[in-house]
Amino acid sequence: MNMKPKRGLLPAVFLFLFLVLAAAVIMFLSQQPPAPLPASIPTSEFSAERAFRHVEAIADEPHPVGTAAHLQARNYIVSELQALGLSPQIQETTFVDPESPAFPGMTVAGTVQNVIARLAGTAGNQAILLVCHYDSVATAPGASDDGSGVATLLETARALQAGPALKNDVVFLFTDGEEVGLLGAQAFVEQHPWAKEVGLALNFDTGGDTGIVYTYETSPGNARLISEYAKAVPRPAASSMMYAVYSAMPNESDFTPFKRAGFQGLNFAHLGGKFRYHTLTENPANLDPGSIQHQGSYAMSLTRHFGNLDLSNLRQDDSPVYFDILSLALIIYPEAWALPFAILAALILIGLVILGWRRKQVRLIWLLLGALAYLVTILLSAGIAWLLWQGLIRIYPQYGAVVDIHNGFFYWLAFITLTIAITATVYNLLRRHFRLAELALGALLWWLVATVMLSLLMPGGSYWLEWPLLFSLIGFGLLWLFPETDSASWRQAGLLAVSALPAILVFSWSIYAMYIGLGTELIIVPVLLMALMLGLFIPHLDFCARVYRWALPVAAIAVTAVALIAGSITAKPDAANPQADSIFYVLNADTGQALWISEDPHPDVWTSQFLGTGFKRGKLTELFPLDSKELLFAPAPVLNLSAPQVELLDDHTTGDTRALRMYITSPTQAPWVEIEIESSSPISRIVLGGKQISPQNDLAHPSPNGYFRTIQYWLPPAQGFDLTIEAASTGKIRAIVRNYEYSLPQIPGFRYDTRPPDRMPLAREFLPKNRTDTVLVSKTFAFGQQE
Ligand SMILES: [Zn+2]
Repeated sequence: MNMKPKRGLLPAVFLFLFLVLAAAVIMFLSQQPPAPLPASIPTSEFSAERAFRHVEAIADEPHPVGTAAHLQARNYIVSELQALGLSPQIQETTFVDPESPAFPGMTVAGTVQNVIARLAGTAGNQAILLVCHYDSVATAPGASDDGSGVATLLETARALQAGPALKNDVVFLFTDGEEVGLLGAQAFVEQHPWAKEVGLALNFDTGGDTGIVYTYETSPGNARLISEYAKAVPRPAASSMMYAVYSAMPNESDFTPFKRAGFQGLNFAHLGGKFRYHTLTENPANLDPGSIQHQGSYAMSLTRHFGNLDLSNLRQDDSPVYFDILSLALIIYPEAWALPFAILAALILIGLVILGWRRKQVRLIWLLLGALAYLVTILLSAGIAWLLWQGLIRIYPQYGAVVDIHNGFFYWLAFITLTIAITATVYNLLRRHFRLAELALGALLWWLVATVMLSLLMPGGSYWLEWPLLFSLIGFGLLWLFPETDSASWRQAGLLAVSALPAILVFSWSIYAMYIGLGTELIIVPVLLMALMLGLFIPHLDFCARVYRWALPVAAIAVTAVALIAGSITAKPDAANPQADSIFYVLNADTGQALWISEDPHPDVWTSQFLGTGFKRGKLTELFPLDSKELLFAPAPVLNLSAPQVELLDDHTTGDTRALRMYITSPTQAPWVEIEIESSSPISRIVLGGKQISPQNDLAHPSPNGYFRTIQYWLPPAQGFDLTIEAASTGKIRAIVRNYEYSLPQIPGFRYDTRPPDRMPLAREFLPKNRTDTVLVSKTFAFGQQE
């Protein structure tokens, strides 16, 4: 290609930039939820305005299991279902989950109360199950998690009743104990008679309080399910990529027990506004009614569609590749096509290299150097981003304590534009030595390698690389096949814009979605994806550089600077965006000493009243032998609090196995009790409240003192419960038992109830417990070697 600046090139570059920006804006708008519908629409339709009053009713304060607010939420759901003429029932049961895959070595048990109602169909032997959970975490009012789901189910139940009757029954399940370990959903699957009649399960839960609702997970063998889904829903937002990635992660939701038990189903979530997730600001005012509207459109359209289908043959052997285009339509094709498309890309790339070599536009060594340069550019972008983020954490230590921050968008923008600036600069410099095709095709070599690997290892995600790569290759090929004429700039602008379309429509959203999904903590991931995507845009960068060589990098760095300044200005916490901090009170009943403990990196304006200036920093292995985290702690006034009690009922040895049977009571009726069992020899069996915990799990979890097993019991029976531990007779066993209460102790002189409005309790997102704002009493019971 002739690289001399041409008259008429500038407008062509503007046209190109306009087309690319327009595609990006359309992409962005397509990810906004629909407008909420008012209460005045027909009663057989779903109205977010009508649904929203349910959110306001249950989510004005946190309602974790074992609180009065939790009971209120349960009663509200029951009375709303009764008002609809349904006969809700409460499934109250104790469930023991031997081991959740997300928390190896941990057993979670709890008493749960699921609310269940059934809307009878005309044929009535199969049921569609709609699921949400009504408990919240202790740190959040739970307007979105999962007030949004509760509101969706209640409004759907109402609208379905007002519309035409369906053949299949519809069961509404409001689970309990989701946040502490999916206890209610597991209890329904394993214990409730209606579970056997469910032909399709739809789970509505969230990870943020705004944005479009993604159908991010399905049951396996989903070819039929997805094609029916595409027919039913007005705005599909789903992809086999999300499904494949989510399946590979340890994350769980209420859908997991259904999936494990072989149910057919779909799982939904809105994920925008993640920094409010599980925090005090996850309140009704911040919940986007548009997200509820989108969620409601899924619930209504899918229930009505599948409500008249035979649900017995939904499962198929194969899972297709599928993805939505601008949430307007779903593209679906067999997974078997993934590899042939990758081979096609390989053939085109080889053809282009040969063509380039014959036309003397590609020198093979320089092509390989071009490939290397692309890799180095990606690593350079990631390295600079990492350094910059570490620097920002130095300046604003609170950034390091949380997964996402309220002004994270500015930083995301700054890091993305910085990546553009770095890449454009590097390629401007490289172009002095390289020919364009050597750089462009060199980068596409990596894309080809990644595409082939993805289509072999995770074919569901193959489309994500395959279509951007194919269009780039074809676009680049066409630029060559039609040599430049005077009017060619226009054609080039159009061709370059078209070749960039799949990258913008299919790939680019992941650069934002990865920030939404992972938060600022992992801002390096969007940077890597952006640097990767720019490998497709080397001809485009070159096209822009032909007018003013440094225009793009200078513009990009200017945006970076503005975004960084905006981030710094808004970094200050305020009442609308409080900063999370952490303090809890521990009475060590073994030593009679009490401590204030914080999980924060430094004391802040509020926690320093507890920690004082003489606080220490370190691991408290005596209290928490399994915690590797450094904590801040300081002595606290000793309160007269009752410790949990362990009564040894039996201790005998049969052969070389020792069986310890104990009875555990919590005199304060604590909402949760935690037992950390440590044994110097492998634990062979644990029986909790009559339920045996799989022995092979125990062996896999060595602790500093041998082997461990952690048991959390939520709402244990008032009279106490029975626990049996079996291990080799030669070993020592000890149990650390902890009582938790949801509050800070009321001690005169401490402003325990006056946390300033710009502070809020820290949410430890990926733990089934949150020690912040709790009182805990810990007592150790040692059972030395038996004589
Ligand atoms: Zn949830």
